[in-house]
Parts: sequence; structure tokens; C-alpha cells
Amino acid sequence: MAGKSDRALRVLVIANQKGGVGKTTTAINLGTALAAVGEKVLLIDSDPQGNASTGLGVGRARRKKTLYDVLMGEEPIAEAVVKTELPGLDLVPADPDLSGVELELGNSPRRSFKLRDALDAVRRDGAYTYVLIDCPPSLNLLTVNAMAAADAVLVPLQCEFFALEGLTQLMRTIELVRGSLNPRLEIQGVVLTMFDRRNSLSEQVANDVRGHFGEAVYETVIPRNVRVSEAPSFGKPALVYDLKCAGSQAYLKLAREVVVRERARRAQAA
Ligand code: ADP
Ligand code: MG
Repeated sequence: MAGKSDRALRVLVIANQKGGVGKTTTAINLGTALAAVGEKVLLIDSDPQGNASTGLGVGRARRKKTLYDVLMGEEPIAEAVVKTELPGLDLVPADPDLSGVELELGNSPRRSFKLRDALDAVRRDGAYTYVLIDCPPSLNLLTVNAMAAADAVLVPLQCEFFALEGLTQLMRTIELVRGSLNPRLEIQGVVLTMFDRRNSLSEQVANDVRGHFGEAVYETVIPRNVRVSEAPSFGKPALVYDLKCAGSQAYLKLAREVVVRERARRAQAA
């Protein structure tokens, strides 16, 4: 039965095969900001490095069941969910085992749909309004599973010289997934990260990206902010570590933009 909550759940995948562009930082802080504005968020750590888990203060000792067990079909997703310090933000943690999934799944049927299948229970259950998936820095089976399970992709782009490089590959992957695994996959938006207003290059890159992606680029730009980079070493989202800092405020603004886009989309679909 399609309840109200069925329609409300949105699954967003945070993807860019480049490392160090702000995927995990965005997953943690957008997740926290969405929870702060009243959404019920489940963050899925789909990177064997487990940075999102560590950054949310969920150390190895608390990762009894992980995304690995879920994708291998050994545990229902609910068994892997852990609470974070924040009401409204739960986590499915990752550990290094996750890097074995690609090999271990081999040619098993539905190998690209393991996450989507696991999320069926979450969609039915109705406890969450957003699922955010933090991807590894590659276009591997983990990223493909995330895209096959998602409603939309959110792309973080670092404001540096080679920002647009590699995006052709990402866009091609999104097209491939649309053509085969998930025809409804949309682009939620592109977020500029680590913007440095003292660096004229940042401004130039931001303009280039807006010229290329137009409306898809969020108005909110995430500034380079030392508080944002310090927070994970305390196992806290930046918004908890220092709510007032420019980075935290930017993520709150981004969350509002994400929600507005979702509302507009829903109104259009209705
Ligand atoms: P990815 O997940 O794409 O590999 P991360 O989110 O881990 O990227 O970010 C890479 C590095 O940049 C991390 O050390 C992180 O703390 C830092 N970082 C990310 N966003 C910001 C920001 N807005 N200001 C300062 N440092 C940032
Ligand atoms: Mg990461």
C-alpha cells in the first residue's frame, strides 16, 4: 500500500568520482542540516573508507553490522542502522569489508540492485524523509548501486582549476544508469564546495560551472572553512561543532534549497 510516507521519501546520492571534492563533508553536513530543519534522515556510508561513519562519531566498535552485510544480503538494513548524536539523523556505517563487495557479488543477478532492494524496506517503513548516500571516489559497483537506488544525484564540485574535468564521465554514467537500471534518476543539483573568496580562481571556476550547468547549480556556495575541516576529527558534524561558522550556515542554506527543489518537483508531479 502506498502511504503518504512512501511519496515523501527521497533518496539522494552524493557522487563525484574525484576524491577530496567534499562528498563526505556534504553528506554529513547536509544530512545534519536537513535533520535540523525537521527532516528524518538516514545517511548511508557507501565508501569503504568509512569517513562519513567516523565523521559522525561512529567508531569501528559501533559498526557491528555494516552496509557490507546489507549488500551481501546477510542482514536487513534495519539491523545495520545506528543512531547518531543527532535526533533525526541515523547512519548505516561502512568498514573496509565494503571494498570486497564488487568481487564477492561477481555476476550474481541483481548485483546492481542490492541497495535498491535493501531500501524497499525503508521506503515501506516510512520512518525517514531523506536517504543520503555517500559514494566512494570511483564509478564502481557501489556507485552504480547507489545510482540505481536513488531518485536524484547531488554533485559536489570543488572550486579548483580541474573542477569540470571528469564530469563528462560522471554524466555519462548517469546517462547509462538512466538507460538501463533507473530511468527516473534526476539531477538534484550541483554544489560548489571549498570556495575561497580571496582566490580569483574560485570565482572564475564558479562562473564556468554556472555557465556549464546553469540552473542546476545551487545558489548556495560552500566556503572553504577551517571549522568544517576540523569537525570530523571530533566525530561531529560542523553544524554541531560550530553552528555559527560560515561553513555550517552555508550547509543550512543548502538544505533549504534542496527542500525547496524537492517541493517544486513534487508540486509538478502532483
Ligand atoms: P570526498 O568525500 O569527496 O573525498 P571530503 O568531504 O572528505 O571529500 O573532503 C576532502 C577534504 O577537504 C577533507 O579533509 C575535508 O575536511 C576538507 N573539506 C571539505 N569541505 C571543506 C570546506 N568547506 N572547508 C574546508 N575544508 C573542507
Ligand atoms: Mg568521501
